[in-house]
Amino acid sequence: MNISDMEKHICASSWTSDEVLNNHRTLCLDHRGRFSASPNAASAAEFIQKTLQGYGLDNARKDYFPMITWTRGETRLSMVEPSSAEYPCIALPYTPSCKNVLELVDAGMGHPEDLAKVPGGVTGKAVLVEDSNPPSGPGYHRLHKYLFAKNAGAAAFVFASTSSGMLAPTGSLAFNHNGDIHQAIPAVGIAAEIASEFRWWLQTHTVQLKFEMQHSLQAGKDCNVIADLTGSAQSQNMVIVCGHYDGHDISQGAVDNASGTAVVMETARLLAPIQDYLNCSIRFVLFGSEEMGLVGSHYLAETMKTELNNIRFVFNLDCVGNPGQLGILLQNCPELIDFYTKTAKDFPSDIRVSTHFVPFSDHFPFLMRGVPASFMATSGTEGRGWGHTLADTFEKVSGETLNRISMHTARLVLHTTQAAVWPVKSKSPDQIADMITNSHMKHLLEHENHWIF
Ligand SMILES: [Zn+2]
Repeated sequence: MNISDMEKHICASSWTSDEVLNNHRTLCLDHRGRFSASPNAASAAEFIQKTLQGYGLDNARKDYFPMITWTRGETRLSMVEPSSAEYPCIALPYTPSCKNVLELVDAGMGHPEDLAKVPGGVTGKAVLVEDSNPPSGPGYHRLHKYLFAKNAGAAAFVFASTSSGMLAPTGSLAFNHNGDIHQAIPAVGIAAEIASEFRWWLQTHTVQLKFEMQHSLQAGKDCNVIADLTGSAQSQNMVIVCGHYDGHDISQGAVDNASGTAVVMETARLLAPIQDYLNCSIRFVLFGSEEMGLVGSHYLAETMKTELNNIRFVFNLDCVGNPGQLGILLQNCPELIDFYTKTAKDFPSDIRVSTHFVPFSDHFPFLMRGVPASFMATSGTEGRGWGHTLADTFEKVSGETLNRISMHTARLVLHTTQAAVWPVKSKSPDQIADMITNSHMKHLLEHENHWIF
C-alpha cells in the first residue's frame, strides 16, 4: 500500500465513525475529572487500556509509578477585616493544610518587580496575584508566580482569574517532581469578581483574610497507559503519540485533556489496520498525573533512557478540543518546520506550524533529554479558555473537531513514520540547557532539583 492509499484509508475511516466522539463523552461523563491517583483516574486508565487492546494494538498495558498523592479536603476563605464574609475558592493541588489570618496585599501580575513595589513588602502576608501577563515582556506561568511570591517571603498565594464568570482557576503547585514541595505556602484560586472585591476594600482598608484548609499528602502510585503498533517495521525507529488522560477534580476535563486522550486513541484506531506498511513503530502513551507536575511523563522518559535515541519525534496532544486551527509547535527542532509545513500543505488542512516554546506539558521531559518533540493544541479561545475551571465540560468539544484533528494527527504521524530521511537529530545537553535557560525555566527547574544538565 502506498502512502496515498494509506491517507485515503485514514480520511474515510475518520469521517465515517463517531468512535472518537463516543470515547470523548465516556472520558468526560463516566470517568469525570480523572484526578491524579483517584478512582476515576483508575477507571479511565482501565477503559483506555481495554479500548486500545480492542483496536489491535500490541501489549496495551498500565505502567505504574510511585508518587506523592494529594487529597483535597475542606477549604474556607473568609474576610475578617474590614468586612465579614466567606468566599468561594479552590485550594491548588499540593497546597498544605493551614489555619491562619493574614494581611492581604495586591501584587498585580505577580512578577518580581510587582512584588518589590508592594508598599510595606510582602513578607508574612497573603499576596493577590492575577493570572495574566503584560502583552510584551515575559509571560510567566502560575508556577513561576508562586515561586516568586514564596521567595519574596509571602505566607500565602491567592491566584485570581482575569476572566469574568465566577470561575476560580485550579492548577498544581509542582512542576517537575511529585509533590514533596519544600516549604510550600498555602495557595488558592479565586474568581475575577472576588479579586475585584478584594481590590475595592484594599483601596481604603487593611484587609485580613482567614485561611482554613485541611488536605493530605500520601505516598501512593498512579499509572501511564501504553500500547504499541509494531507492525512489520524492521528499523529501531519509533514515533511517540501521547497526551495526558488525567484532569482536575473540579470538572470533566473535556478540553484539558479528554480531547487529547480521545484523539490519541483515535489516531491508534486509524493507523492500526495499516500497521504492516509502517516503516517504524509507534508508541501510544496516555500519561497519568500530568496536572500534578508531569509525573507520568518524567517517569517514562527516565525508564526509556536507553531508547531515547531511537525516538524520531514526540507528538504531544494537550487541549485539542477547541474549534480552531491545529497548531504543531516544534519545541526543540526548528529544522522540521519545512517538513511539517509541506506535509500540512499537501492536503487541504488548517495546520499551523511554529516554534513557539511551551514547557508545561508532557513533551517536556523528552525535550529536556534532547528528543525532538512537539506540543499540539487547537486555537479558538482566549488564553487558557475553560481549562482548569469548573466549566471545562463536554458540550464545548464537537465531533467535527475531534474527527478533523484525529485525521490530521494520523496523517502527520504517517508522514513521520514513512520519511526516508529524517531531517533532525537529538540535541546535545548543552544545546537544550541553553534553550531552557533562555526561556526562564532554569530557576524553576533548579528550585525543584530537576536541573539535569
Ligand atoms: Zn493539559
